[in-house]
Amino acid sequence: MSPNNKTPGVIESLQTEVENFPAPPHFVETAQFGPEIYQQATQNPEEFWAEQARALHWHKPFTQTLDWSNAPFASWFGDGEINLSYNCLDRHVLAGNGDRVAIHWEGEPGDTRTITYHQLLGEVKKAANLLTSLGVTRGDRVAIYLPMIPEAVIAMLAVARIGAIHSVVFGGFSAESLRARIDDAQAKIIITADGGWRKGRVSPLKPAVDEALALATETPLSVEHVLVVQRGENDIAWEEGRDLWWHEEIAQVDDQHTAQGFPAENPLFILYTSGTTGKPKGILHTSGGYLTQASFTHRAVFDLRPETDVYWSTADIGWVTGHSYVVYGPLSNGATQVMYEGTPETPTWSRWWEIVERYGVTIFYTAPTAIRSFMKQGREVALKHDLSTIRLLGTVGEPINPEAWLWYREVIGAGTAPIVDTWWQTETGAIMISPLPGVTATKPGSAQVPIPGISIDVVDDNADHVGRGNGGLLTVTKPWPSMLRGIWGDPERFIATYWRTFGDKYFAGDGARLDADGDIWLMGRVDDVMNVSGHRLSTTEIESSLVSHPSVAEAAVVGAQDEVTGQAVVAFVILKKNQTLIGDSDQASAILTAHVGNHIGAIARPRQVFVVGELPKTRSGKIIRRLLKDVAEGREVGDTSTLADTNIMQLITEKLR
Ligand code: ATP
Ligand code: MG
Repeated sequence: MSPNNKTPGVIESLQTEVENFPAPPHFVETAQFGPEIYQQATQNPEEFWAEQARALHWHKPFTQTLDWSNAPFASWFGDGEINLSYNCLDRHVLAGNGDRVAIHWEGEPGDTRTITYHQLLGEVKKAANLLTSLGVTRGDRVAIYLPMIPEAVIAMLAVARIGAIHSVVFGGFSAESLRARIDDAQAKIIITADGGWRKGRVSPLKPAVDEALALATETPLSVEHVLVVQRGENDIAWEEGRDLWWHEEIAQVDDQHTAQGFPAENPLFILYTSGTTGKPKGILHTSGGYLTQASFTHRAVFDLRPETDVYWSTADIGWVTGHSYVVYGPLSNGATQVMYEGTPETPTWSRWWEIVERYGVTIFYTAPTAIRSFMKQGREVALKHDLSTIRLLGTVGEPINPEAWLWYREVIGAGTAPIVDTWWQTETGAIMISPLPGVTATKPGSAQVPIPGISIDVVDDNADHVGRGNGGLLTVTKPWPSMLRGIWGDPERFIATYWRTFGDKYFAGDGARLDADGDIWLMGRVDDVMNVSGHRLSTTEIESSLVSHPSVAEAAVVGAQDEVTGQAVVAFVILKKNQTLIGDSDQASAILTAHVGNHIGAIARPRQVFVVGELPKTRSGKIIRRLLKDVAEGREVGDTSTLADTNIMQLITEKLR
């Protein structure tokens, strides 16, 4: 029996209020979207989205907005016809902006390419003709397994241009993971490279493709051709007839291509989630609604000025952020952006800041995990560089601890750049919760408010609104344009995962709380909520408390079985380089347990604190807490297939013994 009589599903919050930062006057004065936009959107959300959709080019204008009669399978702008590649390219060239730089690309070894909209369109037209010549037609699946090189963007837009479906697989995935995704989508073509530069050497990709295609699986092999971009110049095996060099084939096709319109609900891509909670899901997105929300949010949340801004999202195209905020959002808005192939620490931890300086980056979007890595190195690394062009910062992927938020603003944003903490998922397709930089006073650690046109509620297990000051389950209460249209080939799993809990509301799987102002604070995954002496506690707040200690760079907490309290808080921390306050592991436990006790209260005090060198993360950099829970409870470690570095769990297990 629980000693407190809270409503089931309510997550307790221990956090105290923090200072906020009003929108800077120059953002307010020049805001493209002022406070009235919320009111407009609330009055008639569907009409609001129709208006945003009309900002795009439609081959055939739509007359219907939302059809929800077959819920939870939505249709947006269903009778309209659109071509996404046309919207990202032809439209800007026709408007006279062909000479604008679309991509400032930098390879890890330091080689560069500058690609204008006119040039990008030319490349995409050829690639579209190439795919057509290989027999790819509307609805066919094309797998893309490429490093962060311009061909990745070109390939995606070429697939979209001919109405086919791309399935981008992150280049760090193994042959087995790649094959599983190829089989699931039944991809006809795979586009890869001989390799890509990572950490100062060529990381081979084509060999992984060869291995994937040679695996014996239950599904007959669907792949007919492998298109290979030459990037790494390494020796690779070649299967005549099946394998084709991209540069040789491209040279032979016509450079003219007229984009035709496809129905708004034509599928655009399948993308597998990052696998933090378990087996990845093949999320399906379609065209018109997806582009509407990706495009609008990229303009509104980042206050984009396409004529003057230099935008940089550090996300890989293998993740949804790379789809929506490297490819479709920025390019549909005619933005100039930076694209970088390699890792942030190659050749030194200065690399990203050199890039910011070199291209004059004005808007910078990255993940909390990257910010914490830079915190660990010390602020001097970034401060050596001229970052004065940066005017806006963004984060995505995990809750950002207030300490990291403040560091980001102060060190990277010169103490003045607003930060947009954007909450969304592969499933939502585009940003759902975020401040608007010309409107919202930002709060460190909070994603704050639904974007205009989006309805969010935080509820208890009975679907009742939790009210301000309380935590519960995050839900989306109305359909939205860029929502997933299903899980590829598995409608049952789609309904069971997202719709069965509440019936009419989309359940995101995340915990959240509403503060006294009604602002939303993400509290981590509901699966990770701990039950300590009957108190339901979230991981995020205790981790943020640990990170607020001056010696701690990163923290992960889990609830481990405990005879006395049901579950007990067990923490894993990474210490900052050159910190001197904590000498050894025994000291860490005493110091940090006391710190959390003083900071947020005795109930949250960890039973144990382990100092570790690394934490288990997905390939997109998110902490996988379920594996730490296995260790903390002395169990065999569970499914590690989505782990970026499989050695880490072994190191942690050995350390704990
Ligand atoms: P899987 O669903 O396979 O476990 P995943 O949830 O990590 O993988 P993504 O779709 O890449 O896959 O991540 C979405 C999740 O990331 C969200 O549900 C949330 O938990 C977290 N997230 C993203 N942005 C934020 C943010 N700004 N604040 C807090 N959490 C965030
Ligand atoms: Mg998820």
